[in-house]
Amino acid sequence: MTIYGILVAAGRGERFGGPKHLIEVGGKSMWERARDALLHGGVDELVIIGDVPGGIEGGVRRRDSVAAGLDVVPGDASFVLVHDAARPLATPDLVRRVIDRLLSGGVDAVVPVIPVRDTLKRVGDGWVLGTVDRSDISVAQTPQGFKAATLRAAHAASDDDATDDAALVERFGGSIAAVEGEAENVKITFPGDVALAEALLR
Ligand code: C5P
Repeated sequence: MTIYGILVAAGRGERFGGPKHLIEVGGKSMWERARDALLHGGVDELVIIGDVPGGIEGGVRRRDSVAAGLDVVPGDASFVLVHDAARPLATPDLVRRVIDRLLSGGVDAVVPVIPVRDTLKRVGDGWVLGTVDRSDISVAQTPQGFKAATLRAAHAASDDDATDDAALVERFGGSIAAVEGEAENVKITFPGDVALAEALLR
C-alpha cells in the first residue's frame, strides 16, 4: 500500500512578507523539515509544490497548489496526506498517527486537532460582543490524511476557496476523524513565528 504525500510550499507568503520555506529553523530549512517528517512518518511517495528544490509550480490559492499535486499523484492511489511546509515542527509520530487512523478504515479524512485553551470572544468595531462556547472548538493542523478518491471528488465538486482540504471534504459530506495534534506544530505565518519555532525546538 503506497501512501502519497503532497507538501505545499507555494504562495506569496503575504503575511510573512515573502517566500519563507527556504528559511532555516534549527539549522534546517522549513520545507526540508516538513518533508523529512512525512518521509520518516510513513509517506512513501512525495510531491512537492512551490519554489523549493524539486518543487513543481503551485497555484494562486492553497487549494490550487494541492490540486497541482493531485494531478501528479497516480489516479489509482488510495491514500494521500497533505501537509503545509509552513509547519516545520510536525513530527514523524504525528504523521504516523494520521496514517494509522486513515488505514484503520471507516473515514474519508483525518485531521489532527488541538482543543483551544483560550477564552474566545466575538469582537467588532473595538467592542467585545460576546463569548463563544469553546467546549467543542479545536484548532486544525496538518498533515491531513485523505482517501485520494474522496479528496479528488471534493476538489472537483466546488471551486469555492477553503483554508484546508478537510473543509472541502466537509462540504462534500465526507466523514472526518480527529486525532490528537501537537502543541509544538505551529504554523509559520508571521516573521516572529520563526523565533517561536526556534525556541520550541530548543
Ligand atoms: O498562506 P498560508 O500560510 O495559510 O499557507 C499554508 C501553506 O499553504 C503554506 O505552506 C503555503 O506554502 C501553502 N500555499 C501554497 N499555495 C498557495 C498558498 C499557500 O502552496 N497559493
